[in-house]
Amino acid sequence: GAAKSDDSVSGRVRVAVRLRPRNDEELEADADFADCVELQPELKRLKLRKNNWDSDTYEFDEVLTEFSSQKRVYEVVAKPVVESVLDGYNGTVMAYGQTGTGKTHTLGRLGDEDTSARGIMVRAMEDILAEMTPGTDSISVSYLQIYMETIQDLLNPANNNIAIAEDPKTGDVSLPGASLVEVRDQQSFVELLRLGEAHRFAANTKLNTESSRSHAILMVHVKKSVLGDSPYENDNPYQSVNNFKPPVIRTGKLFLVDLAGSERIHKSGSEGHTLEEAKSINLSLSALGKCINALAENSAHVPVRDSKLTRLLRDSFGGSARTSLIVTIGPSPRHRAETASTILFGQRAM
Ligand code: ADP
Ligand code: MG
Repeated sequence: GAAKSDDSVSGRVRVAVRLRPRNDEELEADADFADCVELQPELKRLKLRKNNWDSDTYEFDEVLTEFSSQKRVYEVVAKPVVESVLDGYNGTVMAYGQTGTGKTHTLGRLGDEDTSARGIMVRAMEDILAEMTPGTDSISVSYLQIYMETIQDLLNPANNNIAIAEDPKTGDVSLPGASLVEVRDQQSFVELLRLGEAHRFAANTKLNTESSRSHAILMVHVKKSVLGDSPYENDNPYQSVNNFKPPVIRTGKLFLVDLAGSERIHKSGSEGHTLEEAKSINLSLSALGKCINALAENSAHVPVRDSKLTRLLRDSFGGSARTSLIVTIGPSPRHRAETASTILFGQRAM
């Protein structure tokens, strides 16, 4: 498609909320209680229960219920971002929420056993591959983890402290030390995701930590050649000789980010390693929150310097880049406080 310029939404972050269905444990333990939220998807509203008779109402760009399919979630949250990356812009789709609420299900599910279960990463690559012309166009990916402010390469564990490079002229961000693997078909991409997941598990076992304590980031570079725009109408036969349209290379960068679990780790109950992890997660999620609040408010100053995550994303949100945030929540009344804090994070981004 043609390059879009929609200034009215520049800087705006699209925010969707997604509710996970009750799991077996919740069906049993919460059997006598209502969910902590009530969704009104047609009105794009969510009600958070305060008690049996009162609730607070919040509006989102999209409200995805426990019945929303993976396909619908992809179409609403990610597809517009993928399309703008194919048009040569940068873009980001992020999942934020408490551990166990469906971030990885939403983004990273491979769906080997059931294609309808495939998540955003697999669906995005399918749409990008469909737009590629062999010979001229190319896709390459890096897959990374940020743990305790260190960037690790999930495609090559030997690269475990990757530096962020910024082009002083263009502001472009890159990771020269990270593997960049060309993707030619869907099957090899799924194998890369599987390899990355295995490396992530091994690295985290060695570090004695859980995947939920780090951010997983898939970075997709898309290079696409399109016919250049000509200033002339093409119906004058005498002009057509000089009217050669050289192909133009459009490059776009897509980030798909499965964020660390947003749950509070109470300082009183943790010490040493766990406390340091918690501080680091709080630092990067709050840095991210500040940046997307600044975008939401169209503020001239977006404080990207405060964490590795925001430095890495800096040329992929704000300006002409599109950003979607999906906040994931669970239904259990026992986690009402965490759910409330996730909802507030989403609200502040709007
Ligand atoms: P997170 O990555 O946020 O910690 P997961 O994606 O691992 O959470 O989800 C936790 C569990 O709930 C997994 O077993 C997952 O398959 C299941 N789950 C999450 N969201 C959904 C959903 N929308 N529908 C069905 N199952 C889900
Ligand atoms: Mg997860």
